[in-house]
Amino acid sequence: MSKLIQAIRGMNDILPDETPKWQFVEEQFRKLMAAYGYAEIRFPIVEKTELFKRSIGEVTDIVEKEMYTFEDRNGDSLSLRPEGTAACVRACLQHGLLYNQTRRLWYMGPMFRHERPQKGRYRQFYQLGVEAFGFPGPDVDAEMIMMTARLWKQLGIADSVSLELNSLGSAESRRAYRDILVAYFEEHREQLDSDSLRRLETNPLRILDSKNPDMQALIEAAPKLNAYLDEASAEHFVKLCSLLDAAGISYRVNSRLVRGLDYYSKTVFEWVTDKLGAQGTICAGGRFDGLVEQLGGRATTAMGFAMGMERLVSLIDEAQFEQQDYAPHAYFLALGEVAENQAMQLAEQCRDALPNLRLLLNCGGGGMKSQMKKADRSGARFALILAENELARDEITIKDLSGEMEQQTVSQSTLTTFLQSGLKIQG
Ligand code: ATP
Ligand code: MG
Repeated sequence: MSKLIQAIRGMNDILPDETPKWQFVEEQFRKLMAAYGYAEIRFPIVEKTELFKRSIGEVTDIVEKEMYTFEDRNGDSLSLRPEGTAACVRACLQHGLLYNQTRRLWYMGPMFRHERPQKGRYRQFYQLGVEAFGFPGPDVDAEMIMMTARLWKQLGIADSVSLELNSLGSAESRRAYRDILVAYFEEHREQLDSDSLRRLETNPLRILDSKNPDMQALIEAAPKLNAYLDEASAEHFVKLCSLLDAAGISYRVNSRLVRGLDYYSKTVFEWVTDKLGAQGTICAGGRFDGLVEQLGGRATTAMGFAMGMERLVSLIDEAQFEQQDYAPHAYFLALGEVAENQAMQLAEQCRDALPNLRLLLNCGGGGMKSQMKKADRSGARFALILAENELARDEITIKDLSGEMEQQTVSQSTLTTFLQSGLKIQG
């Protein structure tokens, strides 16, 4: 035998045992988007590297060291998308979606970052993302946060997550704050770790994000961003807080929340949990009022967020999820070639009549015993049996694998009626 080929480190297979949970999350998310009037947009997984450099920022972790970048055969530099916002804006501009109108959009799909793989942090991971364009006020910020809060309820994880909120102010006020912060850290240069020394030159706000315990006292005592907010941003933030208060959504203002991407301004937020260890952020986002213009469009305000699917899925309680049933309703056994052919036709007729029926047809032959074993293993409620006796009389034997009903034989013509009433499924 030749050597087995393994998947790439940090890129996961999602196996059939797990996919129902993924589907559950995706379904709930789709429902939520419909409920709030957001429309789906799809864009490619690969874009010109330039797009991410110009939007996310040259000196961010993502662009400096996490992108999968390669040369196309014609020499263009391309990158696997590390996030969705840049491509979403690019698509909107390219197709004139923002021309004199507002847009509420969502997307889902894989993102790629060359990070150190660990639990909750992968090199291919999936995001559900939402963006709204052309809404300057805090109303849409509040809407998005309320929408996520509703999703946590739908997924049964509301008790496991909490909201952190901050305002980064305008680009100008952040620049002014940046100088003050740099001066402060320069003064205490000897206390900075190597990571922070590097960030001091490149992206000093990110020092506030440091998880190094030795740096915490220094960071706590640093000048706070909120104190330097411009008036418009401060007002925006107060209004957002009062909208959230009115909606009964609790939050913690975290003045150290800065986010890793350059394009944010004003509102930023994160939903965090303490149930997933170090990778505790399940959803993160904020306002990016400058990005559309930065990418060549007309100045357009924007707000958005993205959630990590893997982290969401691992938060969902098995018990609550099991209420959703993905097992087949029935397993169709057929003995002998004539029965097999007929079973295949009958199965199709059942599916025609009952589009919601989940029916598994035995394929590959086998004796009664081995087919029964497969029926049991499938988790189906009923075994439908078509053997010589039944064939002769145009009948089907039905065995309730849960043991609730007596075994019975019905005429083939009433099979769909039986399934419909026995399983209480809608046609
Ligand atoms: P983190 O602080 O965890 O590195 P981030 O600030 O890089 O997250 P964003 O770029 O804002 O995250 O992405 C939004 C969400 O996508 C995160 O909150 C997280 O749930 C998820 N996410 C980001 N990177 C990864 C990854 N490498 N693997 C799995 N999920 C991820
Ligand atoms: Mg990250």
